[in-house]
Amino acid sequence: MRQVYLDYSATTPVKEEVIEAMIPCLKEGYGNPSSLYTQGLMAKAALDEARAKVAALIGATSNEIYFTSCGTESDNWVLFDVAKRLKNKGNHIITSSIEHHAILHTCEQLEKEGFQITYLSPNAEGIIEPEALQAAITDQTILVSIMMVNNEIGTVEPIKELAKIAKEHNILFHTDAVQGLGNVHIDVKDLGVDYLSMSAHKIYGPKGVGALFVRKGLRIDSMIHGGGQERKKRAGTENVAGIVGFGKAAELAFNNLDQHINHSRELRDYLADSIVKSIPDVTINGTMEHRHPGNLNVTFNYIEGESILLLLDAMGVAVSTGSACSSKSLKPSHVLDAIGVPVEQIHGTVRFTVGDFTTKEDIDYTLEQLIPIVKKLRELSPVSAEKGW
Ligand code: PLP
Repeated sequence: MRQVYLDYSATTPVKEEVIEAMIPCLKEGYGNPSSLYTQGLMAKAALDEARAKVAALIGATSNEIYFTSCGTESDNWVLFDVAKRLKNKGNHIITSSIEHHAILHTCEQLEKEGFQITYLSPNAEGIIEPEALQAAITDQTILVSIMMVNNEIGTVEPIKELAKIAKEHNILFHTDAVQGLGNVHIDVKDLGVDYLSMSAHKIYGPKGVGALFVRKGLRIDSMIHGGGQERKKRAGTENVAGIVGFGKAAELAFNNLDQHINHSRELRDYLADSIVKSIPDVTINGTMEHRHPGNLNVTFNYIEGESILLLLDAMGVAVSTGSACSSKSLKPSHVLDAIGVPVEQIHGTVRFTVGDFTTKEDIDYTLEQLIPIVKKLRELSPVSAEKGW
C-alpha cells in the first residue's frame, strides 16, 4: 500500500544528507568537544560549524546561538530566566492563547509562582493584533512571548510589529519560531526580537536538538549547571551528532528556502482547492494569506476528525487532528477554540501538513481515499438524512 506522510508539522523525515553528516560524529569523530587533543578539537570544530549554519538561517551570529535539547527546552529557558531575573522589576508576562503547550504550560507554572499572565486572543483569522498587545502592556510587564507560526492552523504572526511595540516600552520580546524555522524567511535583526526558539526535527534534522537565539548584549542565566559547555550557559556534554545534523539541516533549509516554500505551497493549495471543490460543508481554519506554506487545517462538518484520521491511516495516509501534543487528548483544540470554531466543528477538524518529500501523486492518492471516507462517515452521521447525503 502507498504510504503518504502528511504530518510535517509534527515532525519531518530526516534528510539523507543530514544522516550522512551525522554518521562520522558517531564513528571516528566521537571525541568529546571539551578535550584538548585532536579528536576533541575536531568535534569542537564541528559544533562551531553547525552553530554558524543555524545562526545564518535566522540572520544571527554564532555567539548568539545556544544549543539545547529541543524547542520546549528553549521556551522554558527564556520564560523562567526572564521571570526570575526581572521579578523585582515586574511580575507581568504577555503571551497568546494559541501558543504551543511548551509556552502555555510554562506560563501556568509561572502563575503558580505568583506571576500574572495575559493571554492575548487572536482575531477570527488566527492573528494576534498589535493593538491587542499595546492594550495589554502595564508598567509591570517584563516579557512578551508570541509564536512566529502557529502549529495547528499555520498562521504567521506579525512578529516585527509586535516586537516593535515591546521595544517601545522597553520590554523583552521572545518568539517561539519552532514552526517558522525553514518555512518562512527569518532575520532576527529585521524582526527586532530578543530571544527566538528553534528545533531541529521540524526542519529535516534529528529529534532531541534545539537552539535558543539570545540577542547579543542580553543576559541569560544558566538553566543547567555543570561544566563549561555552551559558554557555561547550558552544561552537559554536547549532543555532537545531533547538533551537526541540525547544522546540516539548517544549511539545506537556507540554500533551498524559496524552493521549499513554493513546492509546499503549490501542493497545499492543490489539496485545499480539491477538498473545497469535491467535498461539501468544509471550512478552512485560519487565514490563507499569512500562513505556513505547507499547512492546511480543515473542518469537515458533522463528522469526527479522529475517525477520518484512523480511516486514512488504514489506507497508509498519516495526518493529524491537532498539534502532535494534543492529539492524544480528547480535549478540543485550544487554538480552534480561540478563533471561535464551535466545539462540534473542532471535533471534525484535520490538519494536513506537506513538505519536501510530498508529491502531487501523494495528494491525489490522499484525495482518492479522503473523499469516500468523508462521504461514508457522513452517511453514518445522524444529520445525513436531513442533509440528503
Ligand atoms: N513550539 C511549537 C510551536 C511547536 O510546534 C513545537 C512542537 O510541535 C514545540 C514548540 C516543541 O518543540 P520540540 O518538539 O522540539 O520540543
